[in-house]
Amino acid sequence: MHDPTRLDLDPGLRGELWQRLAETVERYAADVEALPVAPALDAEALRAQLAPFDFESPLAPRAALDFAAQGLTRHQVHTPHPRYFGLFNPAPSAMGIAADTLVAAFNPQMAAWSHNPFAAEVEAHLCRAFGARFGWPAAQVDGVFCSGGAEANHTGLLVALNAAFPEFAQGGARALPAQPVFYVSQEAHHSFAKAARLCGLGAPACRAVPADACLRLDLGALEDRLRRDRSEGLLPFLVVATAGTTSAGAIDPLPELAELARREQLWLHADAAWGGAAALVPELRGLLAGLEQADSLTFDAHKWLSVPMGAGLFLCRHPGELTRTFATRADYMPRDAAGLEVTDPFMHSMQWSRRFIGLKLFLTLAVAGWGGYAAALGRMARAGAHLRERLAARGWPLVNDTPLPIACFVDGRSPQGRSAEHLQAVAQRVVGSGRAWISTVLLRGEQPALRACVTNYRTTEADVDALVEALDQARRG
Ligand SMILES: *Cc1c(COP(=O)(O)O)cnc(C)c1O
Repeated sequence: MHDPTRLDLDPGLRGELWQRLAETVERYAADVEALPVAPALDAEALRAQLAPFDFESPLAPRAALDFAAQGLTRHQVHTPHPRYFGLFNPAPSAMGIAADTLVAAFNPQMAAWSHNPFAAEVEAHLCRAFGARFGWPAAQVDGVFCSGGAEANHTGLLVALNAAFPEFAQGGARALPAQPVFYVSQEAHHSFAKAARLCGLGAPACRAVPADACLRLDLGALEDRLRRDRSEGLLPFLVVATAGTTSAGAIDPLPELAELARREQLWLHADAAWGGAAALVPELRGLLAGLEQADSLTFDAHKWLSVPMGAGLFLCRHPGELTRTFATRADYMPRDAAGLEVTDPFMHSMQWSRRFIGLKLFLTLAVAGWGGYAAALGRMARAGAHLRERLAARGWPLVNDTPLPIACFVDGRSPQGRSAEHLQAVAQRVVGSGRAWISTVLLRGEQPALRACVTNYRTTEADVDALVEALDQARRG
């Protein structure tokens, strides 16, 4: 039957559409390497392409699909490109792409457990499996999938607040006897400053503690700040350890922070958004010693684990705290599972209607296994070591120190080689060449550097060599 609304399509047209879709996905995965990594930016041209879309005369399905595929091919930074040395946006895994397609088609609703027992239990199983990898007893692990690390960090802040101040849920921050404050490294992710605002604490509640010469949270500075804040009557309740900073891959001193948190009775949240993946690699796992003492943690599967966005994970080793933070009543929600020992996902999440985020991780892990991940991540770490070695050999001194595959570096062969202006010009020339994508950072708020990160399981040593060539050319102007 022909559907005049065209929301559904005739089976024949649908069949053609799925086939075209599969071909498009495969062609992109196979050919992305031949594209310039980054496009020229032209907002006017894009608006001109969209102007004819007044949505009065319907388009053929295949023409519409092709329009979108062409737009994406021509107008995006190709994060799945092996010479994208950027911000942990990986090439998505094949099983992850398949999973997200399946999820779109079945459209499971992740609010009530009873609507999707399979999906809810897959996610709960993954929470326990990853909790165990991070060193927690599996039975103790509670968790929830999030849109990404920012939501997971926001969740962590709320859970810590509610654990420390039971009156917060009812009375809000104004019910507390004084201003609550928490501590992050100055190199921590800015989602914490945002979360402080979103939780109604105010941005200054997020105390940025100076980082040491190795870009790790400085313990002495933290102790000073804590003492000062307590003497001023403020209420410290949380300290955040970053396990793999976004800019430079620094890992805060986890065992010492755990000890301090215990002594000072603070919640310890570990932000292991991308660095947490090191727990899956035998030769890197030791870097995360102490992570198992965190009360909660943030982990992003859409970063080093290469599943499509967005796939954040918030894990907590105190069962009940998530529910205490988010539980609410809604009389229209189904109660079919009331007699079962299960948690409705909406009762421990910021989100209500939610996509089945966990499937892309489940299917990727089911097919690759822990061993497949260990091999892929280990190879990327070795490509990172190769990058450091090549940079040093070509007069690009490193200014960070981590076995994780992020290099921050300056230009040792130019008198302006440490200036932001020169480094930005170099990055722009590399990006403008289309041969690779890199960026600049400002370490400890004062030291400009170039930043290149191996984030793609397809990146080879030859890709690294091509980046160094592009850099050498860029420094010559
Ligand atoms: C990327 C990142 C985040 C934010 O995660 P999103 O998935 O982008 O929301 C938080 N913390 C660290 C350390 C990160 O690298």
